[in-house]
Amino acid sequence: MLTQNLGYPRIGAQRQLKKACEQYWAGKIGLDELHEAGRKIREDNWKTQLDAGIDLIPCNDFSFYDQVLDTSLLLGAVPERYAPVGQIAGNREIDLYFAMARGYQKDGLDITAMEMTKWLDTNYHYIVPEFTAQQQFRLSSGKVFAEYAAARQQLGEKAKPVLVGPVSYLLLGKEKEAGFERIDLIRQLVPVYVEIINRLKEQGAEWIQIDEPCLALDLSKNDKEAFEYAYETIAHRVTDVKLLVATYFEALLDNTQVAVNLPVAALHIDLVRAPEQLDEVLALVPEGLQLSLGVVDGRNVWKNDYEKSLALIKKATQKLGADRVIIAPSCSLLHSPIDLDQETAIDPEIRNWMAFARQKLNEVAELKQITEGHTELLEANRAAIERRRNSGKVHKPAVRDRVAAITEADATRNSAFPVRQLLHRERFKLPAFPTTTIGSFPQTDEIRQLRARFKKGDLTPEQYGQEIERATIDTIRWQEEIGLDVLVHGEFERNDMVEYFGEQLDGFLFTRNGWVQSYGSRCVKPPVIYGDVSRPADMTVRWTTFAAAQTEKLMKGMLTGPVTILQWSFVRDDQPREVTTYQIALAIRDEVLALEKAGIGIIQIDEAAIREGLPLRRAKRPHYLDWAVKSFRVTASGVADTTQIHTHMCYSEFNDIIEHIAAMDADVITIETSRSQMELLQAFAHFEYPNEIGPGVYDIHSPRVPGKEEMVSLLTKAADLLPAQNLWVNPDCGLKTRKWPETKAALENMVAAARAVREKIS
Ligand code: GLN
Ligand code: ZN
Repeated sequence: MLTQNLGYPRIGAQRQLKKACEQYWAGKIGLDELHEAGRKIREDNWKTQLDAGIDLIPCNDFSFYDQVLDTSLLLGAVPERYAPVGQIAGNREIDLYFAMARGYQKDGLDITAMEMTKWLDTNYHYIVPEFTAQQQFRLSSGKVFAEYAAARQQLGEKAKPVLVGPVSYLLLGKEKEAGFERIDLIRQLVPVYVEIINRLKEQGAEWIQIDEPCLALDLSKNDKEAFEYAYETIAHRVTDVKLLVATYFEALLDNTQVAVNLPVAALHIDLVRAPEQLDEVLALVPEGLQLSLGVVDGRNVWKNDYEKSLALIKKATQKLGADRVIIAPSCSLLHSPIDLDQETAIDPEIRNWMAFARQKLNEVAELKQITEGHTELLEANRAAIERRRNSGKVHKPAVRDRVAAITEADATRNSAFPVRQLLHRERFKLPAFPTTTIGSFPQTDEIRQLRARFKKGDLTPEQYGQEIERATIDTIRWQEEIGLDVLVHGEFERNDMVEYFGEQLDGFLFTRNGWVQSYGSRCVKPPVIYGDVSRPADMTVRWTTFAAAQTEKLMKGMLTGPVTILQWSFVRDDQPREVTTYQIALAIRDEVLALEKAGIGIIQIDEAAIREGLPLRRAKRPHYLDWAVKSFRVTASGVADTTQIHTHMCYSEFNDIIEHIAAMDADVITIETSRSQMELLQAFAHFEYPNEIGPGVYDIHSPRVPGKEEMVSLLTKAADLLPAQNLWVNPDCGLKTRKWPETKAALENMVAAARAVREKIS
């Protein structure tokens, strides 16, 4: 029996990669230093994995930005527009590479970056490959060979190069012109893979891992045939090297036949996400295929339950024999924080239930040892799992009882929207096309320093409170001056829209160094939800009521919704995600009610992440949407009819989920539409979306200041699509990443645009 790892975090335990890349981009270090930082991280990672006793250790899982972008460079899929970058004297491959990732704005060139999107259902973002009808591929980068050579020197035969597979590479990319389907490029692409694999074999590679996550998605007939074609062609032209196809994040389901019959040496399946698929795979697995069992969760922070994993391993070895079984994490450990041992501030009891990437390697190795008879290793694990299962830190009967008692009435407003709308008109007396913002205002260095100093203890709570109040007052005065209709307090007290709430809720903990890569040099440090969630005290009432008292105008309260809090945290794995979400929903509901009681009549509950929680497989979506929508409704429905509930989402591709968005029954929804020129409002128009809606008219992702006329024309378009009396005027999203001068100019124009449209249309 072998053990393997599919990928290791590459940011470095002290985020060395982030620092090195950002210094290189700023011109503060040269190429040698950048490469040196990369080399050091790789070598450390390999040593860690070797020491842990892993038999097959990945290489080429390292990347300076993104492994899909590496693949584009490897295959020569460099879009035309980057050609001039390569011609600038002194530019090397890596400068072209970073230009593709980040755009290139110097040397008289102004070239946009390639698009970025989420890697399946993770919070990691990859650079989307771009294809043209005449797309050619050719071997164009030596990175994988150089990294394999170094790995081989350090690890010998244990070194296993990793490639993004040809079919997933195509499926995860995008056609940049009409007239062809990218999957048909497989014929041009496969010869380059043959060349790469042959070269790695000549260098001495015994195993090569080929990641094909798309094998676990809904596939067309054409896609399935592409898998068969690709691997049959490769098998035909490559001999004496073991290919391991890795799938993850979902079950193979209807692709099981295709997957197990690929002519490769081994198949990896994710048994954390989909343990139930083992039976079906075992039933179909042909003679000779080795099976890699992903039993250790590569995407979460919890200690593996050995008994559960061993049951799966036993089932597989009984059918296949131990020598055809490989033990592994469920997916690359890229999605997991690096080292739990650094987290000395976490309650030791809870820490004993957790495992980060380094600890997960040990789990993989121990599972093998236990299978081989070292059953004494089971004891400590069993004890920890048992403690967690029964701990009073996790289980709060009152919280469970409350979730169990949620009724349909709790998830339903007292009256239907038309009734509420009349009440809101009477109460708020807003003009047509009311103006508002999404919540945050620029987070200047001064504000950030303030929070940092307070956290360090350099400011007393009183001093800190006064400073935040001052920033809030200034922002309110300024919103009044330019004539916004519904004001916000500015969110100056918040570092992050999830962390701020997590820090005040029971059942959450925070790590010091639990960073995971989000994209490029950007890392996030998600909170950990370890126990039943409850709200010991008010969370936002102080700041919101302070703000409301400063003005005669309406003040909107600002909260983060349950699905978004869930989605951007590490979530406990000992109960269904929806149960945890309902717990959060009840906690936020109480905050909504506290705000209402304090006199706040308009409350926004941000659900930025509802769409990204959508399951990869279509069949699982209805259930998800059901509980996601219901948990929002639980959060929002405790209020009186006269209270107006807003929600906000930072995107607007709602075509496939519009009925569920409508079912959330928010009185007002604000979305991102300015970049698409309101095109994305079509979904709302077709559906005849009944409630009020604020389509963003100001793209806050860029420092550019939109002019008044431009926004008038966007609003006019919106009014052509939807009833004018239901429209609000607002930016696409919060303004915290912007600077003050451009924010002021843009919002002044926005208010002027709203006024112009009021005259024009009413
Ligand atoms: N209220 C938040 C803000 O304005 C919303 C941010 C978001 O949707 N990502 O910053
Ligand atoms: Zn947003």
